[in-house]
Amino acid sequence: LIQLFLPLNFLGFVYREIRRALTDLENMLGLLTRKPAIVDAPDARPLQLQAAAISFQQVSFRYQAERPILQQLSFQVPSGSKVAIVGASGAGKSTIARLLYRFYELDSGQILVDGQDIRQLTLDSLRRAIAIVPQDTVLFNSSIRENIAYANPDASAAEIERAIDLAHLRDFINSLPQRDQTQVGERGLKVSGGEKQRIAIARAILKGSPILIFDEATSSLDSQSEQAILSAMREVAKQHTSLVIAHRLSTVTDADQILVLQHGQLIEQGNHQQLLAANGSYARMWRQQAEQQSE
Ligand code: ADP
Ligand code: MG
Repeated sequence: LIQLFLPLNFLGFVYREIRRALTDLENMLGLLTRKPAIVDAPDARPLQLQAAAISFQQVSFRYQAERPILQQLSFQVPSGSKVAIVGASGAGKSTIARLLYRFYELDSGQILVDGQDIRQLTLDSLRRAIAIVPQDTVLFNSSIRENIAYANPDASAAEIERAIDLAHLRDFINSLPQRDQTQVGERGLKVSGGEKQRIAIARAILKGSPILIFDEATSSLDSQSEQAILSAMREVAKQHTSLVIAHRLSTVTDADQILVLQHGQLIEQGNHQQLLAANGSYARMWRQQAEQQSE
């Protein structure tokens, strides 16, 4: 680096620009050294799927040294159940989904899928077992059918049709000029937020993973589109182990278990009725959101 700098010294502004770029690079590399890229362990094994149960055990995690995000977090998502995570923005909800998908390594604790520590599994087998419906869905410049099918290039026509039905996309597709061949994306038909979310749900169905994560899948939608997504979500969730991350509580009232996360810690858990009866922070959030709805 020093050899690179010496001849540049006389070019003040160039020097400063390069200096700044290098500092950014150093920062970036620094980040990478603290959080090494995720790769398979040398003796990694494929996930042996059984019932698709998830367990977080004393999980602690920070993105940066100074700032703990999750602290000794423990919870279970039993096979076939629907567990919701709610809490203010920044509480660490999406981080939980990222850790389960193994985008980052834990600082301590364990995440188990069917009793197997995800660190000992091949990334490929872990990630094939999990489908995520993200908050913002990206559509390619392609037909709506291709946009759905890309989740599983081997899917049969019948499987694609089934995903379209389960995601409540049938009426929408029938209303389009060229049905499922209609071009969407930046250069095609503009698709509403709710329709995009249903396309994301269809993709998740087609991926065929036993574990489903919805990360604020309805947060940017109006109430009517939200209802359409919710019924699609409920239908799909029945056949999966699902983790539903939500800021809007109306999306999680039917969850088997609701976890209330605050600053990376669980402060309450129970089902909707139990949490209302407990009259704690969940009940408070529920009343606040009910007021906002009626405004
Ligand atoms: P939530 O989904 O509950 O809104 P997140 O899990 O996305 O919250 O984020 C939790 C905290 O971690 C936030 O304070 C956020 O700013 C911080 N955070 C998220 N991603 C990163 C990252 N890649 N690097 C550093 N901090 C991050
Ligand atoms: Mg989030």
